[in-house]
Amino acid sequence: MPVTQVPTTRSSDHASAVAQIKDAILSRQRFLICSHARPDGDSIGSQLALAYALRALGKHVDIVNKDPAPPPLMAFPGVRTIRVAETAEGEYDAAVVLECSELARTGVTGLERYFLINIDHHPGNAGFGRLNWFNGDAAACAEMVFDVIEALDVPMSVEIATHVYVGILTDTGSFHYSSISPRTFDICRQLVEAGVDPPRVARSIFDSNSLGRLKLFGAVLSSIELEDDGRLAVVRVDRAMAASAGGNYEDTEGLINLPLTVREIQAVVFFKEMDARDYRVSLRSKGEIDVCAVAKRFGGGGHKNASGCTVRGEYAEVRARLTREIVAAIRRGLAAERDLP
Ligand code: 5GP
Ligand code: MN
Repeated sequence: MPVTQVPTTRSSDHASAVAQIKDAILSRQRFLICSHARPDGDSIGSQLALAYALRALGKHVDIVNKDPAPPPLMAFPGVRTIRVAETAEGEYDAAVVLECSELARTGVTGLERYFLINIDHHPGNAGFGRLNWFNGDAAACAEMVFDVIEALDVPMSVEIATHVYVGILTDTGSFHYSSISPRTFDICRQLVEAGVDPPRVARSIFDSNSLGRLKLFGAVLSSIELEDDGRLAVVRVDRAMAASAGGNYEDTEGLINLPLTVREIQAVVFFKEMDARDYRVSLRSKGEIDVCAVAKRFGGGGHKNASGCTVRGEYAEVRARLTREIVAAIRRGLAAERDLP
């Protein structure tokens, strides 16, 4: 019986979803693990944690993603073994899809022919798998993977623990976002007991910039524009800026979080020009401001405080459309915060 997705899953439903996933894994041998295009720390951490755990059970595991891992993650165990491909090929008993609200988020074709196990924490998960476990309360998909690994009774190796920690650290924006729960810290406590070295992980991820990347950040931040009396920051990057700074255009992850360190700034929209009239948009916000609702209006998604979408059109026009929606979201969010006890 497939586990069906319900908007608010009770803990007994979580337990039964984990039990069904455990049985599905134990009765199968060959696994493909896939996550979303442009994978982030939670994608890579969740995939590798699960891969190490399944291999510890003697299973065969391949990992495939449409795009390579972000450069700062390359040094972590196993990351270089991830295959980058647009099509899933080969014989597998199941494909585990992590971190994807829809199957199309993978950017990988051919997955639908496998027995799909969908594990995700993004609001609005479409329940595309044969087994679906959705937990919108998880701060990271890696928390859910931790639960699966615990259920499978696999000993917490330092590799598994490090990857779960990478997922949680990056997806909570270094323990900044509202999705953090007591469970987050309980899991992290167990990870540190299993040998994770938090300062070392943080240094590898956050202190591994090239000078070109820092200069690119500088160029982008000096052209920051403010809207809504300084509550909204608008930042934009194009290839010319990256080339003149000497930074790598693929490597702008993390840039969007910097404007939020300004006290007055409540939300940030980051436009990355992919082609003329084609922009990747990242959105970040503080507290009750829901930028996921904005991203959804533009065909994207994500979480309340961290979302994204792709938009087409002239820059001035897409900027105006997004700004209007985000300013409305800021107003709603700040009003909701005033109503909080
Ligand atoms: P980022 O801004 O780092 O690319 O993405 C932030 C969050 O929004 C991540 O959880 C990511 O999965 C989600 N997200 C980004 N772009 C899209 C998109 O185009 N569609 C959906 N559904 N989610 C997205
Ligand atoms: Mn995630």
